Amino acid sequence: MQKLLVITIMLVLATPGCLDSLKDDLVSCDNITGQCRYEILRANEYSTIHLEINYVTGNSPDSDALNLLKQRIKEVTDKSTVTVSQNSFGSTQNSYTLEEILEIENEERSRFKSGNTFVIHILYLNGEYKDNDQTLGLAYSGTSFVMFKEKIEDAAFLLISAKDIEKSVIVHEFGHLLGLVNNGYQSPHDHEDPQHPHHSNNEESVMYWAIESQDIANQIDGEPPNNFDSYDLDDLNLMKQGKL
Ligand SMILES: [Zn+2]
Repeated sequence: MQKLLVITIMLVLATPGCLDSLKDDLVSCDNITGQCRYEILRANEYSTIHLEINYVTGNSPDSDALNLLKQRIKEVTDKSTVTVSQNSFGSTQNSYTLEEILEIENEERSRFKSGNTFVIHILYLNGEYKDNDQTLGLAYSGTSFVMFKEKIEDAAFLLISAKDIEKSVIVHEFGHLLGLVNNGYQSPHDHEDPQHPHHSNNEESVMYWAIESQDIANQIDGEPPNNFDSYDLDDLNLMKQGKL
């Protein structure tokens, strides 16, 4: 008992310096949604993006949705390579608070940006978001977002498949990591919806607010958009050029 205590105290005393420098590396832009946009868009610091996906068993990502996300990343960023890893884990919950989502990421996430690779963490959960049960997806940090697979399946309706909705939601949440719309920068274009901050006022943009809402069926005619519109793309180009 005594010995253990001594060892514990020594560890605590010995590590603060290391922890601090580790923290500096990890904090930077990572804690705030949209703040890593330059690191994600440009290739000067990180030439590769790795998508680390952890999903609750039975709620794995749709492969077409993942392929579309990879395609969009290649289209809008300067990255030369996008890699993916996927792992499943068990969960006994069916409703998650933001705090619980952060805890799960903390437990499941194994990779952070290092070397030439920027890492985006995508959590696929069963059940619903406790703070808003209409939520299909949520970007909650500079490098991570969550997808609610069962809610996406529930949101499917006669003419639009769950797969089409998942494609839109995954690109939408990635768009939030890029700062869209007006999250940490000010667009020269008037395309932010005043009723829904950080979302596009254009129904044909993937950044339209209803994309991540279970109300998507009532808000959108036909297939939901899964691409950025010209104003979104112009914002991203200006960011890459250092003008935003
Ligand atoms: Zn959104």
